[in-house]
Amino acid sequence: MAFWNKGSSLPPQTSAKIPAKNPQPHQGTESQSRPPQPAPGAAPSGGPTVPAALAGVRNIIAIASGKGGVGKSTVSTNLAIALRYAGATVGLLDADIYGPSQPGMLGAQGKQGGTTAEGALIPVQKHGVGFISMGLLMPHDGPVVWRAPMAMKAIHQFLGNVQWGNLDYLLIDLPPGTGDVQLTLAQQARLAGAVIVTTPQEVALGIAKKGLEMFRQLNIPILGIIENMSGFTCKHCGEETAVFKEGGGKKMADSLGVPYLGSIPLDPEIMLSGDEGVPVLERGDGPRSIAGQTFIGVAQELDKQVRRTSEAVGIEPVSYGVMSDGNLAVKWPDGHEGMHRPYTFRIHCGCASCVDENTGKPLLDARGVPLDIRLEAVVSVGRYALNPRFSDGHSTGIYPFKKLRSICECGDCLRKKDAGQAAFSV
Ligand code: ADP
Repeated sequence: MAFWNKGSSLPPQTSAKIPAKNPQPHQGTESQSRPPQPAPGAAPSGGPTVPAALAGVRNIIAIASGKGGVGKSTVSTNLAIALRYAGATVGLLDADIYGPSQPGMLGAQGKQGGTTAEGALIPVQKHGVGFISMGLLMPHDGPVVWRAPMAMKAIHQFLGNVQWGNLDYLLIDLPPGTGDVQLTLAQQARLAGAVIVTTPQEVALGIAKKGLEMFRQLNIPILGIIENMSGFTCKHCGEETAVFKEGGGKKMADSLGVPYLGSIPLDPEIMLSGDEGVPVLERGDGPRSIAGQTFIGVAQELDKQVRRTSEAVGIEPVSYGVMSDGNLAVKWPDGHEGMHRPYTFRIHCGCASCVDENTGKPLLDARGVPLDIRLEAVVSVGRYALNPRFSDGHSTGIYPFKKLRSICECGDCLRKKDAGQAAFSV
C-alpha cells in the first residue's frame, strides 16, 4: 500500500500544504488489508469476530489513556487530521460514550450522518474525516446516564453497524480507564494496536501504565506512548516551562520497552482548536505551526510503528472455517490451504488447563479426548489467533497464527514432516 503517496479525498489545497518534512511511503503488508474470513464452503462455525462493517478498514487503532483530561480526545482528533493530510483515508470512532467530545472538537455539533437503506449509520464527514459519536445521536447536551448493558449496546452498534467503507485508518477514541468498553473493543475490533496518551506527571503515568498493561494482557500490540502537555513555551520571552514535568512519557516507554511516538506541547492553539472545533492543521498556520508540525511528526511515527508491528505480528490467515467434513480449513496469504483435524487440533491446545504455564509440561491426557470430537465454532481473537470451541465443551484454547501454521495437517505438510523437513518457514 503506497500509503503516504496515495491519493485521497482531501481537498486539493491541503495536500499542497504538507511541509517539507514529509512522511515516507508506506509499505504495508498484505495481511493488514485482509481480515480473516470464513473459508468458502465452510459450514457455519461461529465465524470471525471481526464485524463485517470493519472489513474494509486496514488498521484499527485504539487511542487510550489511564485517566481523563490528559488530552486523549484532542490527540485523537488531531492525529486523524494529520494522517489524512498525509494522504490516508481516516475514520474516527468516538467510543467515549459517557463523555463524547468529538462532535465539539471537529465542529460538528448537531450534524447527522443519516442511515443507509439497510439501517447502518453513515459517519458524519468533517475536515475530511468520517466520524461517529454518541454525541451525534444524543439530542441534548445533558449527561449520558446509562447502565452498562445500554452502553455496551451502543458500542456493539458502533462496531457492527456503521458504514465505514474502505479506510486506511480507523482511530478509536476510547473512554479513560480499563473497563468493559475497552475489553469489548480489544476483543472484537481486530486492533492493529493501541496508543497510550499520558501527561508527564507521575500520577498520570502510573494510571497510564495500568491501561497499557491491560492491552498487553489482551495481546494487543502497543504502538506507542504519546506524552501530551509536555511543556509550555512563552511566545513573548521564549522561556519553556514544564507545567506537568517533562520526559515522563519517554522514560515510561523506555522502561516498558514500548515505542515512544513523541511529545505534544501544552499550547493554547491546541486548546482553542478543540474549543472552536477546528483542528490545529486546519487553522492559522496549519501544518507550519508548531502544533501542526508536532502532530504530523507523531502521525509519521505512528504509521512507522503500525508497519513494524504488523510485520512482527506476522502471518494472518486470509480465511478459515469448519468444513462439512468437520475439519478446520485455513487459507494463508501465500496460497497454502491448511487443514486441521479436530482431534489433533484439540490435543495441541496450549491453554492453562492443557499445559502447565510454568514448566510447559502437558496437563491434558490425550487418551481422555474422544476420537470423534468435533469443532463446533472457531472465532478469531484480535489479529493473532483463533479460538475454537470443541464438542467436549473445551473453549479456552488460543491458537496463535504461527502455531496454527506449524501444526497444519494437510497432505503436503504431513509429507514434509515425515521427511523430517520443516513444514513451513514462517
Ligand atoms: P481527555 O480526552 O483525555 O479527557 P481532552 O482531549 O478532552 O482530554 O482534553 C482536556 C482539555 O485539555 C481540553 O480542554 C483540551 O482542549 C485541552 N488540551 C488537551 N491537550 C492540550 C494541549 N496539548 N495543549 C493545550 N490544551 C490541551
